[in-house]
Formats: sequence, structure tokens, C-alpha cells
Amino acid sequence: MGITRRFAILSICLAFTSAAYTCAVWAQDFKVTLLGTGVPFPATDRFGAATLVEAGKERLLFDVGRGATIRLNQIGVSMGTLNAVFLTHFHSDHTSGIPDLWLTGWIGRYYGNRQSPFRVIGPKGTVSLMQNLERAYADDIRIRYEDEKNPMEGVAIAASEYASDGVVYEKNGVTVTAFEVDHGALIKPAYGYRIDYEGRSVILSGDTRYSENLEKHAQGATLVVHEVAIANQEYYDKTPIVKYIMAHHITPQEAGSLFARVKPKLAAYTHLVFLGSPDYPAPKVADIERTTRAAYSGPLALGTDLMAFDVRNDQVIVIPDASKK
Ligand SMILES: [Zn+2]
Repeated sequence: MGITRRFAILSICLAFTSAAYTCAVWAQDFKVTLLGTGVPFPATDRFGAATLVEAGKERLLFDVGRGATIRLNQIGVSMGTLNAVFLTHFHSDHTSGIPDLWLTGWIGRYYGNRQSPFRVIGPKGTVSLMQNLERAYADDIRIRYEDEKNPMEGVAIAASEYASDGVVYEKNGVTVTAFEVDHGALIKPAYGYRIDYEGRSVILSGDTRYSENLEKHAQGATLVVHEVAIANQEYYDKTPIVKYIMAHHITPQEAGSLFARVKPKLAAYTHLVFLGSPDYPAPKVADIERTTRAAYSGPLALGTDLMAFDVRNDQVIVIPDASKK
């Protein structure tokens, strides 16, 4: 948002002093919305990984887990208005919503109506994934084109991939930088993203255990959105698979130490992994908070689906539910 537009908004806000909430909404030129904060488990309250970043004129989606289209609809964002989709890695809980977003977004209704190619940017493997989806859904595309005459431009795929750290997208003052993270020795490629806009920056960790490279890229970040995992200690001690899963993710203690060093205006959790069983109850959100607090006393948000963040210069405002206008 330019200075003129900011000034205009401020003027309107000052003219309507009782409309503080509206002013806060209007001021959001850099907003991050957690569309899905869950994991592979098919929960009704935590959908698959997906994070929407709206910066100036750009609407960018990072990962497309299960239910991303439903969450977009809940906040009134038409699928056809997304400028680009970014993938962190190829675990299905981060990608299984792609066909839904791509094809439903092509339908010529208000919630879709895509008129330009579906742009997907990700690490090596992205082009092949998208080519294979195109093959898988060839009949749907042919039938809808013949029947509904949706413009073929809107279902075309523009996929591109990268093989190392660097800027992967630059438009309208928004810069997206990919950086490698550490999701375990066999889970490669795995990347996180930094989004810069008008002197503010957001880090999205993707899936990773503690990553030195992430910490390097997170220096000076305004908002850090990080994954996290926690297990019942007894269950962890007795169960090899739980040790294996935990080795792919960061613990609240480790994340807390990271936040304490990076000192963002706000640290937020997404992709919350809770490991337990009927005999060994999984820890709760409060346990994540408590163990994080052992190492970090700064601003912290325990992400839930549809929680959003208004990224300002001096602070990050938490919007508990972005679907409530
Ligand atoms: Zn993963």
C-alpha cells in the first residue's frame, strides 16, 4: 500500500472514531491467514497445511493441504484470485488439496472463475507432480471444457521449480525467498519461505526440525510461523515410530529457543503435531505453550484454523477468526 492510500485510510479512520475495528481491517496490507494448522490425521477442526499470505496486490498460498478451498471460502477469498501457489515439500498433507483448488477454481462461478494459468512454484518435483495431475484429470478438463466452455486458459498449469535457496517470486513489491530446511535425512527436498513486503517480513517454516538455515533467514523477521510437535513422554520412550516422527519436527523447547534468539514481533505455531494413544493421552495445546515458555517469553500465538495475523511495522495483530467480519 502506498503512502497516499495509507493516509487516506487513516483519514477515514479518524473521521469515524467508533469504527476502530473497521480501521484495523482496512489497514491490513500484509496479512497472513492460517487456513490449515493440522497434520495427516483427518480432524474437523484442523485442516491440512495451507497458509494464505496477502501482501499489497498479491495473494499467495503456501501449501495446499486437505480442505484449503473450504477455508478460502470461509474468508470470502475466491480461488481464482490467487496469484501463485508455493509448495514446501511433497508430503501429501501439504499437497492433497491441489486438485481441488486447481479444478474447482476453474469453475465459472464466483468462488472460482480463474482466467489465467494456475501458477505453482516449488522445489524439484513440482513440475512432475503437476504434469501427473494434468494426466489424472484429463477427462474432467475435457468434459468441462466441452460442456461448460470454461476458458482453457484458467485450467492451464504454469509450474516452475527451483533447486537451491534464493528468490523464487518477485511482483508488486512482494519478494518470496525459498530456503532449505531440515525435515529429516530422507525427506528431501524440504523448504521454508520468507515473504518480504514494504520493510516487513514473514517466515513460514514448512515442516522442519530445528534448522540453522531457517534461523539465518529468519533474522529480522516480523512474524515467524513455525511448525511444532509434542509427544506424551512415556509413549515416546516406549514407541519407536513416535521417536521417528518427533525426529522430523521441532519441539516446543527448541522452537522457544529459536524464537528467543530471532526475537520476532510475533511467533506463531501451525502444523501442530500431538502424539499420543488411547493409553498415553496426547499432550494439549497448553502443554506446547508451557514448554515453549520455558525458553521464550515474547509474543506467541498458538495457531488455530482461520487465525490471521495483521503484519505491521511495529507489531503483529492477532485476529482470532478471520471468517468473522
Ligand atoms: Zn512433512
